[in-house]
Amino acid sequence: MKSEKQTYRIKVTGLVQGVGFRPFVYRLAREFGIKGTVDNRNDGVSIMACGKKGEIEDFIAALNAKSPKASQIRKIDYHQVAYVPYDDFRIIKSSDNFSGNEITEVSPDIAVCEECLSDMKTQPHRLGYSFINCTNCGPRFSIIKALPYDRPNTTMSEFELCDKCEQEYKDVNDRRFHAQPVACNDCGPHYELYAEGGIIRDIEGIINRLSALLENGGVAAVKGLGGFNLICDALNEDATLNLRKSKHRDGKPLAVMFRDEKALRKYMQPSAQELQMLKSWRRPIVIVQTSDFPNKVVTSGFNSVGCMLPYMPFHYQLFESTTLDALVYTSANLSGEPIIKDDEIALAAFESKMPVLIYNRKIHNRIDDSVGFVARGKSRMLRRSRGYAPSPVPMPFNADGILAVGAELVNCFCFGRGTQAIMSQHIGDLKNAETLEFFEESIERFSHLYKFEAKAVVCDMHPDYLSSLYARKADLPLIEVQHHHAHMASVMAENALDEEVIGVVMDGTGYGTDGKIWGGEFFTGDLSSFERYAHFAYVPIPGGDAAVKEPWRTALSYLYAVYGKELFNLKILFVQTLDKSKAELIIQLIDKKLNSPESSSAGRLFDAVSALLQLCEVSSFHAEAPMRLEDVLDGTVSGDYPYVYKQRTVDFSPAIKAIVDDLTNDLSPALISAKFHNTVANAVLEVCKKIKEERSLEKVVLSGGTFQNRYLSQKVENDLEAEGFKVFFHRTVPANDGGLALGQLAIAAKKMFNNL
Ligand SMILES: [Zn+2]
Ligand SMILES: [Zn+2]
Repeated sequence: MKSEKQTYRIKVTGLVQGVGFRPFVYRLAREFGIKGTVDNRNDGVSIMACGKKGEIEDFIAALNAKSPKASQIRKIDYHQVAYVPYDDFRIIKSSDNFSGNEITEVSPDIAVCEECLSDMKTQPHRLGYSFINCTNCGPRFSIIKALPYDRPNTTMSEFELCDKCEQEYKDVNDRRFHAQPVACNDCGPHYELYAEGGIIRDIEGIINRLSALLENGGVAAVKGLGGFNLICDALNEDATLNLRKSKHRDGKPLAVMFRDEKALRKYMQPSAQELQMLKSWRRPIVIVQTSDFPNKVVTSGFNSVGCMLPYMPFHYQLFESTTLDALVYTSANLSGEPIIKDDEIALAAFESKMPVLIYNRKIHNRIDDSVGFVARGKSRMLRRSRGYAPSPVPMPFNADGILAVGAELVNCFCFGRGTQAIMSQHIGDLKNAETLEFFEESIERFSHLYKFEAKAVVCDMHPDYLSSLYARKADLPLIEVQHHHAHMASVMAENALDEEVIGVVMDGTGYGTDGKIWGGEFFTGDLSSFERYAHFAYVPIPGGDAAVKEPWRTALSYLYAVYGKELFNLKILFVQTLDKSKAELIIQLIDKKLNSPESSSAGRLFDAVSALLQLCEVSSFHAEAPMRLEDVLDGTVSGDYPYVYKQRTVDFSPAIKAIVDDLTNDLSPALISAKFHNTVANAVLEVCKKIKEERSLEKVVLSGGTFQNRYLSQKVENDLEAEGFKVFFHRTVPANDGGLALGQLAIAAKKMFNNL
């Protein structure tokens, strides 16, 4: 019978290391009667499989169908080789040759699994052990310092395995076979709670103390997976106010961790897809509609809340010992600074104000919680961090050796490794000195981790972006890219589009090739070049950056453009409550063209309407005005306002006039907001139709922060598709500037390698 057997070499690429892939292959091979070997290579997992042809085919199909949940197979290549008579199936030593072009992917951190939660209650050496993990779950990116992903290359290297753990680590039939962070009560990291001058070290004492504190309205700082969090009872207003104070937090809504799905459903109205996203091993924060969340200090008055479910063993332990349904779970940082990751810094910042929970495993790569939402049944990212980074984004072509430094305000950088784009975690606002340091440190850490040496660097053409200044200082070939072209290229790269398309990019601010501020843009073009086909009309933005924080200035500018000084006679509350002397000063700025840059920004247009409706005249956090405008809208309203499209310019003056009329007639913000959103969607559709007629293009890519507006993006996509357009949106990177680096990389790769 042996002669019927054949031997195949199977290569599996993708995220297949650090996720329990080899033991999975081992068990599967046993199940299918396959003999041979499996080992880790620099570019994936290599399998030698000997069996009957049918068995091998079934085995390969099962590799795909049953792979561990955190793994991600990109490709399985296989071919027959000379017959090798294996007598069993074995896992053989990893090859640590990292010279190849393609490299192993680094796994993101993975939420604790069900089996581990159950082991916590039954395994004698792990009873109540808060750092339990296995080949399928636990910390990954946050603790890795170098590749290959082996314990000595992680911050677990300081902990010596006890005999029991070592046995499990070496036993191929054990759930912890080669689980690099494996640990137990005897040999692993442990928590310490600093409270009122004393230190509590036993976990039961810690949990009891914390739950009592939280139930009584206290606030605590606790070390999480990628950094410290501040927590309190999410249904207690005073506690939440105290938490906000210790964080110097602006008015931004806070994220909430619910004890479980049942508790979440009590307050929120999650869709099936939202629940799926919430419960995935990535455990992001998901924006979900609330029926009526009682604590407005958490929601800042919004009708949706950033929700999440427990993902560390500690979270489960804490909820088990309290009756609380939900905790505010927000990153511990002082406004604008990156999330705190080091024990000493957290203690220095918070010990005098509240109990601080630390543990003695170091966080090497700091990483915030990710934030996403669901639109048109698909998950979309607002912040791509824990659970997602550093998973690469596959590119349709080679981008090797290029560093893309990203934007300034919502920074993420990215570098090309073969045909993969390795995106950093969320970095933040580089204008903050500590965040700029984090940016530079992370580029170094990524370079070390992936043995990456930049051959070229690409940045935004903005003259002052700190990321661009960093790029210009590097002694490397430099490519500068227009902001909105990069946005457009980012969607294209994610969707493997490499052809001429229509790009609709709407956001707050981007530097244009004419030196003006762009942001309501219709492009045609591909990855190597673009034409600015049309744009929103320019409006002076009095005070420049100051107007971003004070949307009333932009509203005034729009009114002035439409009514001149007659605006002061309008019978609307916005005008009646204006500080007239301040308003006169603003008008002088506009008239004298002093510090009033012209802008076609969609973000500023939304700011203006939000301020006119008095939803947000002064902004307390980034993009508050457009968010409030979207939040109030009545989705059942189908009306709209007029606008003018001529000479390739979309002029919304008629809409502003009609909004003023509606306000004069006391119509509701819910109705006006809906009509305004519909108007913008109409304009997008009309311009796209013009381009289609003229240029015969029918693929449209959408990007820019304004498209994080769920109502707008869904309407635009639906309307375009109804007219026969093929519409493409972001898949795994954010539409905001957090996704910009990917587009920069794609454009630079095209230029450098002439992938035409
Ligand atoms: Zn586990
Ligand atoms: Zn142990």
